[in-house]
Amino acid sequence: MKRIDTALAPGSRIGILGGGQLARMLSLAAARLGLDCHIYAPEADSPAFAVSAARTVAPYDDFAALEAFAREVDVVTYEFENVPGETAAFLDALVPVAPGVHALKTAQDRIAEKTFIAGLGIPVAPFAEVADEATLDQALARIGRPAVLKTRRFGYDGKGQTKIHAETSSAAAFSDISRQPAILEGFVSFEKEISVIAARSWSGEVAVYDVPENHHENHILKTSTIPARISAAVADTARSFGSRIIAALDYVGVIGVEMFVAGETVIVNEIAPRVHNSGHWTMDACAVSQFEQHIRAVCGWPLGAPERYADVVMTNLLGDDINRWQALAAEPRLHLHLYGKRQARPGRKMGHFNRVTPRQP
Ligand code: AMP
Repeated sequence: MKRIDTALAPGSRIGILGGGQLARMLSLAAARLGLDCHIYAPEADSPAFAVSAARTVAPYDDFAALEAFAREVDVVTYEFENVPGETAAFLDALVPVAPGVHALKTAQDRIAEKTFIAGLGIPVAPFAEVADEATLDQALARIGRPAVLKTRRFGYDGKGQTKIHAETSSAAAFSDISRQPAILEGFVSFEKEISVIAARSWSGEVAVYDVPENHHENHILKTSTIPARISAAVADTARSFGSRIIAALDYVGVIGVEMFVAGETVIVNEIAPRVHNSGHWTMDACAVSQFEQHIRAVCGWPLGAPERYADVVMTNLLGDDINRWQALAAEPRLHLHLYGKRQARPGRKMGHFNRVTPRQP
């Protein structure tokens, strides 16, 4: 594992695995600091390419292409958690990689993730490992119904998961998730979903943003409202869980930690080892956005202040919502961010906007 001990000077190159909107916004933030991004992605029409200094179009298991990429850059980061572990480990031997391989692997496997979080004494939903129908039946006997069955790996936006009701048969539930290795979680009757966006530098400095309240539609984030309508005690607990998780992972970069709130109890759902959709509001309400913060962290720069100047509602533009662009552009005080994607498939994240209002005391 290679580290960065001296801040990378302007003109340095940051390699980013993945070329979606998160890489695009990381690249724009890096450019403002005089840093160049080299995007590595398998898709030739990656949204990040248009705003980045260099690109490699190759699959994640093309080790010759990965080696050439590593030689071109001073640090490697990523915009999505499903970077194959072997890819990250291969790059790690050649160039500093942040967040590190250990954090990536922990977040990729829901059993490893929940075991790690519970091990810190932080509440998670009751959970059990599921390998087949027999272990699912045992897990259901222990955890009860309703419950949520999720694939251990590669789940996102509600994909690879199914709810188990009183009458659901375990065979039907297991085939719903294509009979893959899974986790069974007790169903949490939460009142709110919130998240913590935090950053940590190579030297261990930590910055935590204010807590957004997240509203999903069809399992996809629709809005984040800041501040969340939660008590100061719940906000403090959430932020302290974020700080403990990021430190315990010896993490470098920005992390998103998704949580449920039930009464005054905060339960951690999952970790995203990357910049997070529920942190997009920081672009227009903070001196240093989550994207600049991530770039600062991985490049060995000092972190910026996470303090918030304004109240914000961030709204995602999903699929055909993008057709509203002219009406949105006509709102003179709206902070509009469009990702340059050519095709608007249902549920696809096409852009977002931030409605910013003066901060209420
Ligand atoms: P995940 O893929 O783990 O982020 O789950 C996607 C969404 O499913 C969450 O944002 C929740 O709305 C819901 N969900 C996930 N796990 C649970 C659970 N254990 N109890 C209740 N709802 C859940």
